[in-house]
Amino acid sequence: MFQIMKAFGPVPSRRLGHSLGINNIPPKICTYSCVYCQLGNTINMQVERQNFYKAEELAREVKQKVREVKEKGEPIDYLTFVSDGEPTLDINLGREIELLKPLDIKIAVITNASLIWREDVREDLRKADWVSLKVDAGSKEIWRKVNRPHKSLELKAVLDEILQFASSFNREIITETMLIQGINDNCEEIGKITDFLAQLRPVKAYLAIPTRPPALKKIKAASESAINIAYQIFSQKLSNVEYLIGYEGNAFASTGKVEDDLLSITSVHPMREEAITELLKKANAEWAVVTRLVEQNKLTETEYQGKKFYARKLPR
Ligand code: SF4
Repeated sequence: MFQIMKAFGPVPSRRLGHSLGINNIPPKICTYSCVYCQLGNTINMQVERQNFYKAEELAREVKQKVREVKEKGEPIDYLTFVSDGEPTLDINLGREIELLKPLDIKIAVITNASLIWREDVREDLRKADWVSLKVDAGSKEIWRKVNRPHKSLELKAVLDEILQFASSFNREIITETMLIQGINDNCEEIGKITDFLAQLRPVKAYLAIPTRPPALKKIKAASESAINIAYQIFSQKLSNVEYLIGYEGNAFASTGKVEDDLLSITSVHPMREEAITELLKKANAEWAVVTRLVEQNKLTETEYQGKKFYARKLPR
């Protein structure tokens, strides 16, 4: 049976240090089907919030994972909702954050922001310490091309309500903009995104490119020169712009249960071959574990930009 781990890692994160991931959405339910999504095409596209798991059950699993990680002496800087889909689709998100607060670890949510026009979603996000919002487009046409949103969504409502949310949130907001060759990497679109971000004034505006295999094979990352130009345009109006195009490193933590670790991490975060080698070394395990998981069809091996990646095979 396909078992979903609700807590995984910690995984190394450029933005969050040692981030223990919380996967509160079954694969793969999202409001978008981004062309570059590292989880593949969206299986269930929906905008209705839903009760996926019991909040208490999810919190119990996360607390258990935190205990295991701490027993191993591994640090945790953030508990991060980063899901097999869009985390705000989970109607229990706010309750889950409240249940995890006593752990006294900062809580982050990485969201595509598409449901932020809902007051209950804004209320849930206000409980977090750090929120990352996706802003890949400033115009409707490009938004539809890059994020392929649910047909009931409106870009204007999303952008207007991001600003509304920011005015009532006094902790950290960062933004992520994924640049895709030939879609949103032109100066006109970058200019529109910049104008919006200049109103929002995030603590940091990240410019990213796909570093893991995308949902659509033909999709290509923006070229170095396009990213460089985007950086220059962003920097004219924004004070803190950073690239998010490098590799996060190999510091994946092991809780000793190497198969569980591999399956739970790769379900959200495909791993490079060398990162897996490091993880196996920490757990005193051999590469045969990976070979077995590939043979059992639980892991898939993909080549991208000359590197081998391993990702969790999702149920179809
Ligand atoms: S990248 Fe995020 S928002 Fe886009 S389809 Fe994948 S999970 Fe959904």
